[in-house]
Amino acid sequence: MQESKDLSPEDPVPASIPANPSVADGGGTPVGVDWLRNPVLNKGTAFTAAERDALGLRGLLPPRVFSQEDQVDRVTLSFRREPNALEQYVHLMDLQDRNETLFYRVVMEHIEEMLPIIYTPTVGRACQEYGNIFRRPRGLYLTAEDHGRVQEILGHWPAQDVRVIVVTDGERILGLGDLGANGMRIPVGKLSLYTVCAGIEPHGCLPVTLDVGTNNETLLRDRFYNGLRQPRLRGEAYDAIVEEFVTAVTARWPKALIQFEDFASHNAFRLLEKYQSRVCTFNDDIQGTAAVALAGVLSALRLTRGELKDQTILLFGAGEAGIGIGELVTAALVGQGFTAEEARRRCWFVDSKGLVVRNREHLTRQKQPFAHEHPGASDLFSAIQQLQPTVLIGVSGVAGAFTRATVESMARINRMPIIFALSNPTSMAECTAEQAYTWSGGRAIFASGSPFPPFRYQGRTFIPGQGNNAYVFPGVGLGILVSESRHVTESMFFQAALALARQVESDDLAHGRVYPCFQRIREVSAAIALAVAEEAYRLGLARRPRPNDLLAEIKASMYEPCYQSYA
Ligand code: NAD
Repeated sequence: MQESKDLSPEDPVPASIPANPSVADGGGTPVGVDWLRNPVLNKGTAFTAAERDALGLRGLLPPRVFSQEDQVDRVTLSFRREPNALEQYVHLMDLQDRNETLFYRVVMEHIEEMLPIIYTPTVGRACQEYGNIFRRPRGLYLTAEDHGRVQEILGHWPAQDVRVIVVTDGERILGLGDLGANGMRIPVGKLSLYTVCAGIEPHGCLPVTLDVGTNNETLLRDRFYNGLRQPRLRGEAYDAIVEEFVTAVTARWPKALIQFEDFASHNAFRLLEKYQSRVCTFNDDIQGTAAVALAGVLSALRLTRGELKDQTILLFGAGEAGIGIGELVTAALVGQGFTAEEARRRCWFVDSKGLVVRNREHLTRQKQPFAHEHPGASDLFSAIQQLQPTVLIGVSGVAGAFTRATVESMARINRMPIIFALSNPTSMAECTAEQAYTWSGGRAIFASGSPFPPFRYQGRTFIPGQGNNAYVFPGVGLGILVSESRHVTESMFFQAALALARQVESDDLAHGRVYPCFQRIREVSAAIALAVAEEAYRLGLARRPRPNDLLAEIKASMYEPCYQSYA
């Protein structure tokens, strides 16, 4: 692993705007206190005596010099003293704004403890509260009022080499709905995970919010809401701002990967279709979720000793996540020689109007291929009775939808029912881990979108897997970056799913966990990156010559949050 931080003091480009503009624009050499105010350069009490002399810092810090290890311990202890998860989130947010290297070191060393804080579920709460917890700006805002000026505004971003952009319009934040400009914390959190999980350099990451208004009445009335106080743009005006954004990005950063995040489904599918063959882009809610879910199912089948082709998969929720999963399962079976129609018959959907079947009216274009010839069913329980599914996946955002009767009937049908409650945040999960295990008599193979703690039942400890796309998108991004792929294809997500499933060890499965331990995420991301980059080379999409040892190249490119020596 390279001891990264290949930044010269002349080119510090943090994702937040440093307090001192002479440093922010990359044009001036930092002097004295600038070193403390710039989160990319700042080492706080870890500046050595020689550095303090060389940089004009003597007297500006308490005299004792601490190691990075000491700093990590201090931050971790004070993090643990915070009274609740939101305060812990603010604590880490402050650290990221103050000392980026330390932030990444702390999170990497305590990934399982801190992931639920910087990501789901707490990040959802942070978005809801953003007007109240706002400290310093992070990321780039483009608004409905910026039409015609997007290129110019992108030029305000100080980084010369942006490689990954996560963009949201805040309309469908986790399962929480329209949070408008407050959704910014999602791209910020996702990009932190790109760095933590896959070692993508922080200064190559750009969080973007397209603030096209909000239809959330509570926010519109909220005195401290940060975004535009107007209803959402729709139709041509909306498309024009997205188009201007994509065009401006490709002009300024032609190698950048654009990840669309938490758009409502009526825009998400359209935008993916429009841009996926034009630029290097993907939609994580549709494609990343699909890869994670498929990997979980493949691992679960190692426990049931079943094969994908023999499964009946019932998806509760036919939105971005559900349809994405259906399409990737279809692609997997087509790869095994089935026709698309035969493959799709393994996947069934229940949405807010009941079972998706052929004679239902007003089905969206995405649902139609999965609308099979079959009598209707008005609810999930009847659908289970009719279809006898082996796999039940919740991606509805409907808390508690997997009732006791639902889980019990899955357990009557199957020796080991596969039940994934993938909706986020925790409060939106279709059932809890405890419910899945107790109601199935300890036979369910369970995974959830947000984490649940281990659960002891009948003398056995179950560790619920976290079926969260955090397992996939960082590695996919790394594979794209290393190969400089022109596009992101569905086959890359299929390869990512296979690579993720391969990382699950027998010890994981022994505890009912269908995903690898999150502690191993960097190794897992490197394996996924390898699979994705190999696919880019196979498809002729890579713009970079293939290195002899691709895995070594991937690992060498991964950022490590170590302090650079300045003296
Ligand atoms: P979406 O809005 O596109 O789709 C939601 C779907 O749920 C729609 O088909 C809707 O008809 C259906 N639904 C709503 N109420 C229902 C009801 N009462 N009964 C049956 N179906 C109902 O949203 P999405 O992007 O597909 O996300 C859905 C959920 O999945 C969210 O909670 C999201 O956080 C979660 N998700 C999890 C992950 C993960 O990594 N675990 C990834 C993406 C999405």
